[in-house]
Amino acid sequence: MAFEGLAERLQAVMQRLRGKGKVTEADVKEAMREVRLALLEADVNFKVVKTFINRVKERAVGQEVLKSLTPGQQVIKVVNEELTELMGGEQSKLVKSNRPPTVIMMVGLQGAGKTTTSGKLARYLSKQNHHPLLVAADVYRPAAIRQLQVLGEQLDTPVFSLGEKEDPVKIAEQGVAYAKEHHHDYVIIDTAGRLHIDETMMEELKAIREKVQPDEVLLVVDAMTGQDAVNVAESFNKKLGLTGVVLTKLDGDTRGGAALSVKAVTNCPIKFVGMGEKTDALEPFFPDRMASRILG
Ligand code: GDP
Repeated sequence: MAFEGLAERLQAVMQRLRGKGKVTEADVKEAMREVRLALLEADVNFKVVKTFINRVKERAVGQEVLKSLTPGQQVIKVVNEELTELMGGEQSKLVKSNRPPTVIMMVGLQGAGKTTTSGKLARYLSKQNHHPLLVAADVYRPAAIRQLQVLGEQLDTPVFSLGEKEDPVKIAEQGVAYAKEHHHDYVIIDTAGRLHIDETMMEELKAIREKVQPDEVLLVVDAMTGQDAVNVAESFNKKLGLTGVVLTKLDGDTRGGAALSVKAVTNCPIKFVGMGEKTDALEPFFPDRMASRILG
């Protein structure tokens, strides 16, 4: 289970605070020392941890909190609110263009789950009575196009492809034109990833972005890779500009660092999380629900 270690440790700290009729500044400091360690061990970016702890301390040692009737509860409430804020505060919804189709460009490194997530997103939108079109623009990874076509068949969602010999920019452009003609209200473009970030990939992605002017550029990253996921997000955002992040494999035993750091480090909101390999295992991301899950 994701976040297991972190949740367990934070819940133990919170439990101790909850029981106290009186909470002193020293109690808060001690609790925050433990929270700090738990976050660092969960692979949360150290700068993010520092800012977080300072914010909680600043608010929690205030008179209203410590002098209240339930000081322990109040401190926990502050931690919960700050954790929510850290992950983006409000839910960040998928943008909808007022001139359909809404174009969503999926980017990410190979193996992060980009193709799978493209299929999941198509299913998610179909469930809401939209008519998405999948566009197969990953012409490099062997079998990526076939993988998307199989997903499309499973989901009853059309897949636009020009094979693997065409220029991905042209595929993306023609895919969007096809969607307009055939009244699809969403277009999901599955682009090519690489094993590592490289200039050729970025140039290609930039060229696609310039050509089709997507409403969303969603980066798919693997939560299991912890701080690496955050570094990848930072690079993609600097070089390409992102509108959001999809964090995959949150069903695994990720320590949680990526989920807790991505927004603070890159300022890009997490829009969805992947919770499994099946096509229905995609959930919109709610920072407040995640914070409550972690704090118990
Ligand atoms: P791509 O190279 O980025 O297009 O990656 P794929 O979509 O082919 O996914 C790589 C692997 O990760 C596949 O085995 C997927 O089934 C798996 N995968 C993707 N998303 C998730 C997820 O949320 N949870 C789990 N457990 N596996 C996932």
